[in-house]
Amino acid sequence: MEIVPKIIVAIDGYSSCGKSTMAKALAKTIGYLYIDSGAMYRAVGLFCMHHRLIIENQIDLVRLKEFLPTLRIEFNPNGQGESDTYLNGVNIEKSIRTLEVAHVASQISTIPFVRETMVTLQQQMGFSKGVVMDGRDIGTDVFPKAELKIFVTASPEIRAERRFQEMKTNGESITYEEVLANVKERDERDTSRATSPLHKAEDALILDNSYLSIEEQLTWLLNAFQETIYKIQLK
Ligand code: C5P
Repeated sequence: MEIVPKIIVAIDGYSSCGKSTMAKALAKTIGYLYIDSGAMYRAVGLFCMHHRLIIENQIDLVRLKEFLPTLRIEFNPNGQGESDTYLNGVNIEKSIRTLEVAHVASQISTIPFVRETMVTLQQQMGFSKGVVMDGRDIGTDVFPKAELKIFVTASPEIRAERRFQEMKTNGESITYEEVLANVKERDERDTSRATSPLHKAEDALILDNSYLSIEEQLTWLLNAFQETIYKIQLK
């Protein structure tokens, strides 16, 4: 029987462009572990909010540095074929999905010692391969040797509209304009920060999903995955 090699699939791109939806679907289909690196920054953000490490929009770096090594961020199966994010043993999956946490996560993700800690954790999680990880720096910094790298894009307006619909469905009271402003602000921060700014890895495939359905995106991803495996097997 032929042994199918396990690889790392790195999916990067702008916020709210559906990376996690497609990464989750791909992982489920190919039997890989899905790791949401953004959830890890959100977990740190939530911790900062709960422990008053943010005062007047400023993060207390001294205390954050002290606390960071004590944070236990894990992904545990939720019984529906997916996994939930846990912080120090507590399921925080729902509480990290607010706009406020997204804002704080984006802020703390510019701090070099936070990135260093998260990248090390992510590299440990993907050590045995067979993972689909999504984020901003997965193909560039976390796994620069990932066998398959994908860079996802869509216009800010389309991304804001999708996120707005999702939040409305979840019963959050928010306007489209607020969501669009948040999307643009996070784009600006993600692409301009000094440490690991968001950019396409040279060897990443571009997927513009502005006008693609989730099914079409999954088909595209599966083709890219199978092609990558095929090329490795030919070597
Ligand atoms: O992907 P998500 O929106 O959940 O990520 C939350 C925030 O964490 C983003 O705004 C981004 O600034 C940051 N992030 C990052 N690097 C990653 C994943 C997320 O800087 N690999």
